[in-house]
Amino acid sequence: MSNFDSAISTPISSSASFSYSSSKEAEDIFSGNCSKPLYSRMGNPTTTVLESKMTELENGIGAVATSSGMGAITMSIMSLCSSGDEVLAIGGLFGGSYALLSQTLPRYDIQTKFFDASDLKNLEKNITDKTKVIFCESVGNPNLRLVDLEAIGKIATKYNIAFIVDNTITPKIIQPLKSGADIVVYSTTKIISGNSSALGGIAVFREIKDKDKFKTSRYSFLNPFISKLGAKALIGASKKRILRDFGMSANANASYHTLLGLETLDLRNERVNKSCEIIASNIQKAGLNVNHPSLSVNCDNTLYKTNYKNGCGTIITIDMGTKEKAFKFLDNTKLLTLTANIGDSRTLALHMASTIYSDFKSEEKDFLGITDGLIRLSIGLEDPNDISKDLITSFLSVESV
Ligand SMILES: *Cc1c(COP(=O)(O)O)cnc(C)c1O
Repeated sequence: MSNFDSAISTPISSSASFSYSSSKEAEDIFSGNCSKPLYSRMGNPTTTVLESKMTELENGIGAVATSSGMGAITMSIMSLCSSGDEVLAIGGLFGGSYALLSQTLPRYDIQTKFFDASDLKNLEKNITDKTKVIFCESVGNPNLRLVDLEAIGKIATKYNIAFIVDNTITPKIIQPLKSGADIVVYSTTKIISGNSSALGGIAVFREIKDKDKFKTSRYSFLNPFISKLGAKALIGASKKRILRDFGMSANANASYHTLLGLETLDLRNERVNKSCEIIASNIQKAGLNVNHPSLSVNCDNTLYKTNYKNGCGTIITIDMGTKEKAFKFLDNTKLLTLTANIGDSRTLALHMASTIYSDFKSEEKDFLGITDGLIRLSIGLEDPNDISKDLITSFLSVESV
């Protein structure tokens, strides 16, 4: 036993490769009969700790950490889709995910059809033999549309289609595997690590059961993994087909920072979700055009009260009407950090149309809810009354001109 074994804080295993004690052990590691580390692209001891904690958090059967959230999304979709296949996606969608589905995957002849969160009937009608994945976010970023995960899960079960949920905005608050999701993906860059210290992602998988959708002919390409790995077949397909070959592997340093964040996730979740409700209400009263599902005028307020009892994450959006007013508003605030991130301990803000969505067509922006004056806020750990005051003061200064 090495002295590292008694460390309280997870040791950072900053090694690209690992020695095997004998040729026989090497053979066993490569065949999967021995679970020691093979090479850091296929798994790293620090990252393995993160994977097992996230598996526990989701009640899954296993997890694969990746270099970024986009890495986790790409890995899980590519492990289930081949050329000619189709994805059905429900919006709002993060810009990177929308670009992956609408621009990049079509180059490999994987086509996506997009649906509004309240348009599940139409989604169901569009399921074909080629449909391999239904994809959605637990909370649309940045349109803040909420989804009825149970209802989508039921459709996915009825037609034997894989259901992938991006739960980046609501870790722990929403548990998609319990609502019929097969894979939950995260950008751990956001509230899980929580302070902009590490880029990372992870996919968490549910177990494959006796009579399972992944044993139907739709997913016959999974058969070799099912015979070899049984309940853990989806993990094998992700690791051996995508992680190994595309190489979006997590690094030990990022996994360490993500583990540190995970220790305080619960406390931070509680604080920011309460703050969002307080701030949305305060600034609405002051006359700002604010979007948050906790507000009674919001189209998803009923769903918020029934299915999102512990909140819907750190995002609030404000529509200032025009780009000019939005710029002035942002530049007049004192507490906000302007950046393209969410889920940080600090309050962050960004004008959407001129940054993340600047090269999107106008009909795409309409679908994603990106208006000219839209500002995305991600509420941090500061006093909610201080944040409200800063937002209101800046708003009044713009409106008084
Ligand atoms: C940021 C984000 C991603 C992408 O994550 P990266 O870690 O930046 O690659 C995916 N989905 C959502 C909802 C996000 O907010």
